[in-house]
Amino acid sequence: DRAAAQSAPITPGALADGTSVPLLANLGSPAGAADAIALGAEGVGLFRTEFLFLSSDEAPSVESQKASYVELLTAFEGKKVVVRALDAGADKPLPFLTDDSEENPALGRRGIRALAHRENILRDQLTALAQADAETNAELWVMAPMIATVDETEYFTSLAKELGLKTTGVMVEVPSAAILATEILKSADFASIGTNDLVQYTMAADRLLGSVAHLQSPWHPAALRLIQMVADGGKANGKPVGVCGEAAADPLLAVVLVGLGVNTLSMSPSALADVRAELKKHTLEDAQRIAAAALATGNADQAKTAARAAA
Ligand code: PEP
Ligand code: MG
Repeated sequence: DRAAAQSAPITPGALADGTSVPLLANLGSPAGAADAIALGAEGVGLFRTEFLFLSSDEAPSVESQKASYVELLTAFEGKKVVVRALDAGADKPLPFLTDDSEENPALGRRGIRALAHRENILRDQLTALAQADAETNAELWVMAPMIATVDETEYFTSLAKELGLKTTGVMVEVPSAAILATEILKSADFASIGTNDLVQYTMAADRLLGSVAHLQSPWHPAALRLIQMVADGGKANGKPVGVCGEAAADPLLAVVLVGLGVNTLSMSPSALADVRAELKKHTLEDAQRIAAAALATGNADQAKTAARAAA
């Protein structure tokens, strides 16, 4: 099956009934662009900008950032590119942005909280992105990490618009943001669900800690219900909702996500072929039925078994 998926022709992501499900790439550097395109990425669903600066002691200048963004946007000319503002803290510390004395950095001043505290760094990044956008021809979307509230959403989207960015959204990776998705998507143009952190915070299980790994499955119906809330919030506001966490790279779970109402999937480029092949086997009605079966269970193993049986 795997070999067949890898050698199948590369076509845009779609279900058996033709429902389009754009398949996008998660990237951490513009250097990965050529491989992603060769593997059929229809754009970038998550560009993790913090990886450009992991070894920097100082905040990057507008000029140096702009060069990386121009390179990325040029590689994806004519395609959608979703860039995430610096997501610093916990598993991704940045010396110039995060406070390493916090006892519990996963619950500390990270993501949008760190950026709002050091607004000049955020302004420089958004300025660099707007300048790169003006010189290139991709479709740039910009989003904020670790959004927990409507206020943070309004803060980020209004600042990004003020600095010249057109499409501004949020990552949903904190349960409060999923619960309030209908409100959040009034001021955000889109949402992208980060299932790695959403599962970590829903289950209160550190994503890097092996001893609680049994609690970290994105198949858990608690996570699936939150994902459905976000998809419903998107529908209520006519706004697109994607998934860019590891969940999107699991072929059967990808079908479940689409069944829950998710519009696009973003993953490591190496996962694209298998997900593309699995989506083609199911209609939207199938996907909705498979998702309903997974939702109606009490744990991750049951959800997976129920989805397999329904598929
Ligand atoms: C996530 O949390 O699912 C996500 C995509 O972001 P990261 O893995 O970079 O935290
Ligand atoms: Mg995350």
